[in-house]
Amino acid sequence: MTNDEKTLIKKSIKEKIGELESELVDLKEAAKPISPDSAYGRLSRMDAINNKSIVDAALVDKSTELQRLQYAITRIELSNFGKCSKCGDDIAVKRLMSIPYVTLCISCASRFR
Ligand SMILES: [Zn+2]
Repeated sequence: MTNDEKTLIKKSIKEKIGELESELVDLKEAAKPISPDSAYGRLSRMDAINNKSIVDAALVDKSTELQRLQYAITRIELSNFGKCSKCGDDIAVKRLMSIPYVTLCISCASRFR
């Protein structure tokens, strides 16, 4: 992997982290507990509860994604970054751009799934 490619991947990870962080701020706001005496009517309260479970699930997903990206950014300077952990080949830069924390190349990923 060239330094230019590393810089590109790092930039894309940072962008993704920034997006996730702002989404998480919104989600945390939306995930606040619903108080029983809030102004919701009965039906819209059911809606709010349904929405809350969706929001909670999204919160978990996005937090996990954020942790993976933060981990990827600490690994990017290591010499084995972007190498497949099974076969040792370079992982395609395109693949790293979309999923920076992958540790398998595309052929190993399809073989060992
Ligand atoms: Zn491989």
